[in-house]
Amino acid sequence: MLVDQFGRNHNYLRVSLTERCNLRCTYCMPAEGIALRERSEFMSQEEMIAIVGRFVNFGVDKIRLTGGEPLIKKNFSAILNELSKFPVDLAITTNGVLLDRYIDDLKKAGLNKINISLDSLQEEKFNRISRRFDFKRIMENIQLTIAENFNVKINVVLMQDENIDEIVDFILFTKDKEIEVRFIEFMPFNGNEWDWSKTVSSKTIQNKISEHFGLNEIETLPLPPNSTTRNYKIKGFKGQYGIISSVTNPFCDSCNRIRLTADGKLKNCLFSNHELNLLEAYRHNENIDPIIQQIIHAKKEKRAGIDSFESESAALIYNANRSMTTIGG
Ligand code: SAM
Ligand code: SF4
Ligand code: SF4
Repeated sequence: MLVDQFGRNHNYLRVSLTERCNLRCTYCMPAEGIALRERSEFMSQEEMIAIVGRFVNFGVDKIRLTGGEPLIKKNFSAILNELSKFPVDLAITTNGVLLDRYIDDLKKAGLNKINISLDSLQEEKFNRISRRFDFKRIMENIQLTIAENFNVKINVVLMQDENIDEIVDFILFTKDKEIEVRFIEFMPFNGNEWDWSKTVSSKTIQNKISEHFGLNEIETLPLPPNSTTRNYKIKGFKGQYGIISSVTNPFCDSCNRIRLTADGKLKNCLFSNHELNLLEAYRHNENIDPIIQQIIHAKKEKRAGIDSFESESAALIYNANRSMTTIGG
């Protein structure tokens, strides 16, 4: 078992299949995309499966595929098929653009949990934020995945002066659909021009919701184990909403996550710039198990040791961290 110094068992691995993406969301990627790197710098399918296998041996029983955009990976279906042979619960986080192509493969692999990122319900605004023109396609794919009975969550990164005015619209979107909309606080990473003034705190989100629907209409839902999301629903609505407050109030006490980047590095926290290179060790025929245990042991109690994002020392840590698209969010 991958238990750290604070007694947290890490049974949830997020695997980034690629750093690249077919969108260019302003809060995640520079307009010109990220620098291309040699293919040999990334895990091959065989290497990825072998490395993931070590985590499964250590008790990992939940794997989320992410990126970059996981569905642009050319051998996505083959990777999915291999991963489905492990005794794990599979999930994916995607921008949804290519989902229609993979419905059957996802079903065959038993992957039912799909998180789709959608930062606006307004076409023009969505396309501006993502710097592409895929709004209609994504909306169709959201409908398709709901119709195909997937467990769908919509991820919305809220930003001041951008989509804060759509909080109520997103909640109304859950009225007749069994989906969850999750509001995510805008987080700082290398080069994404994060600023406190752009982050919409969980408190502001809840205030806006109660102003519109009334405090008595909001039902607080039980917190699932290891959840990073506080969940609520509006009485009478089919769907629900959640708030992920990674900036103002993260759930580090029960964190069970570790991240494997597409270039084979292991990160013990989203905000940590400390990484160990599993791929290199694997290619040198080294036993990677002690390296995995080492980074679990080195995990800090809270947010990679960042107390407050306002301090200069915090900026040193998050500016030295990768951009979100290369971490695997
Ligand atoms: N491309 C896929 C997608 O967009 O769903 C998967 C990768 S993306 C990096 C994973 C999640 O991270 C998305 O929901 C995205 O909105 C979120 N994300 C990216 N940058 C972020 C930031 N600076 N703050 C908060 N969430 C962020
Ligand atoms: Fe791509 Fe996802 Fe980042 Fe948007 S959030 S640029 S879709 S990786
Ligand atoms: Fe886990 Fe780090 Fe997120 Fe806290 S900030 S919940 S330790 S990944």
